[in-house]
Amino acid sequence: MKKRKLIVFSGPSGSGKTTLAKLILQKKTGIEFSISATSRNPRGDEINGKEYYFLKLDEFKRKINNDQFVEYEEVYPNKFYGTLKSEVNRIWDNGHHVIFDIDVFGGLKIKNKFPKETIAIFIQPPNLKTLEERLRKRKTDNDSSLKERLSKAKLEIEIASKFDFIIINNKIEESCKSAIRKIEEFLNA
Ligand code: 5GP
Repeated sequence: MKKRKLIVFSGPSGSGKTTLAKLILQKKTGIEFSISATSRNPRGDEINGKEYYFLKLDEFKRKINNDQFVEYEEVYPNKFYGTLKSEVNRIWDNGHHVIFDIDVFGGLKIKNKFPKETIAIFIQPPNLKTLEERLRKRKTDNDSSLKERLSKAKLEIEIASKFDFIIINNKIEESCKSAIRKIEEFLNA
């Protein structure tokens, strides 16, 4: 297995990082999306092995004890999310670079574990009001989970400066162009 590069997209839920990561995957070859494991239930038409590997909470905890994660976080109470070592190896074995769409703390853990191989990009919503509007439009959260996401977003924005780059996601096409520019500089360095 040859180690390739790691491209981390982090930012508050609703910052647009998933849309951005998907757009980059369409525009650039040689990059593959890291499918995270999670103990939360599937939402809407999410499929196991596509959006996430959905695990029961005890299964997730067993994998933590067996040291099977590169990183994991209890992103919300009792809702764990993590990157399996096997997932990164699967993508590296395919000869691809890995793109992650993960929470801020997990993103920094990857950067700390693989400082030379990682570019960590923070996707910031223009402001908290816009973030709240985006989350409400998604209609995937009830009021308490929306509050949970907004209070976490404030914490996340405070540590954005620890990332290699911050992209303020006003217009998705422009954000995509600057992200691709940064990624290409990094991959070609
Ligand atoms: P959602 O429930 O909306 O799919 O995701 C909630 C949060 O968990 C998002 O901020 C998402 O980026 C983050 N997340 C997804 N996968 C991972 C992962 O593997 N590790 C960590 N630390 N966070 C993740």
